[in-house]
Amino acid sequence: MIKNICPYCERQTDLEFIKSHEVIVVRGEEINVPVEYFKCSECGHDFDDPQSKHDPLTLAYKEYRRRHGLMQPEEIRELRQRYGLTQKELAKLLGWGEVTLSRYENGALQDETHNTIFQLIKEPHNLLHLIKQKGDFLQLDKREKLISFLEDEIEETYSFPLIFTELFGKYRPDILSGFQKFNLSKLFQVITFFCVGGVLKTKLNKLLFYADFKHYKEYTTSITGMRYVHLMYGPVPDNYEFYYAALQNENVIKVDEVFFGDYVGENLIAVNEPDFSLFQSSEINTLIAVKDFFRNFNASAIKEFSHKEKGYQETKDGQIIPYSYGDDLRI
Ligand SMILES: [Zn+2]
Repeated sequence: MIKNICPYCERQTDLEFIKSHEVIVVRGEEINVPVEYFKCSECGHDFDDPQSKHDPLTLAYKEYRRRHGLMQPEEIRELRQRYGLTQKELAKLLGWGEVTLSRYENGALQDETHNTIFQLIKEPHNLLHLIKQKGDFLQLDKREKLISFLEDEIEETYSFPLIFTELFGKYRPDILSGFQKFNLSKLFQVITFFCVGGVLKTKLNKLLFYADFKHYKEYTTSITGMRYVHLMYGPVPDNYEFYYAALQNENVIKVDEVFFGDYVGENLIAVNEPDFSLFQSSEINTLIAVKDFFRNFNASAIKEFSHKEKGYQETKDGQIIPYSYGDDLRI
C-alpha cells in the first residue's frame, strides 16, 4: 500500500498497486499483456500511474511485431539515422507521406507492405539503388557522401568470402578437391550443420573429411570441393582455422572452451540452423548419415578411427589426401 492523493476522491488515501494481465486484440489476434495500475481504497476507482512507461497498447504492438517478424519502431528510426536521412528525405525516397514514416517511428503499427519495403532497404544494395534512382532531390554533397558510404558498406559486407576464396580456394576441381569446384557457401553450411548442438573442433575436422569423402565414394564428387590434408591428428580440412575464425567472426558459430584435465578443447556451436537450399538430396543424406554414424564417437575415438583410413596411412604429414582413397573409406 502507498499513501497518496487519489485523483477521483481527492483524498489522501491508501493506494493499492495492482499488476495483472489484459487481452488486447491486434488485427484480430489476441495478445496478453501485463498491466499495472493503482486502485483507491476509499472510492474504489482505478487509475494509471502517471509515471509509468508501461503502455499496454505499445507492448501489444511490440509483441505483435515480434510474432510477425515486423520491424520495431526503434529499428526503423535507427536505420534512417544510420544514413543521416531526415524523416522527410526517407519518406520521399520511398514515395510515402512524411506523416506515415513519423507515425511508424513513434509506435504506430505498420502495414505488411510498408514493412517489406523497410526490410528491403535494410539491404545496402537496395538503398543505394533507390538513392541513385530517386535521390535527385537530395543535396548534391549529401547524396554523394551517402553513395560512397553505402558502397563502402557493401564492399565490407560482401568481399569477405571472396577474399577467402581468392586466398585458399583458388584451385581447379580435380582429384584433390573431389572433382568439385570449391564452394565456400556450402562449406559454411556444412560446418553449421555439424555444429548444431555443439561439436569439438577436432571431431568437426573429421566429420567434414568423412562427409566429403563419403559423397565422393558414392557419387564421384565431393560436396564442398574442400581439400583435406594429412596432419598428426588425422585428416583435416586444409586451412580449417581460417574458416572457423571467419564463421566465429560473422557470429555464425560461437566457441566455448571445455576442459578435460590438462587438455583444453574448443566446442563449436551453431548460432542458427543451416540453410540447405543450395544442396542436392544426395549431399543432405550424406551429411545426415555421417553425423549419425559418428554420433557416439568422442574426439579421440573418431581420431583413432580416421587413422585407420588407407588415405591417411598412405600419405605423409602435410600432404593433401587424394579423393581416390574415398573408394576405400571405412563408412
Ligand atoms: Zn479515491
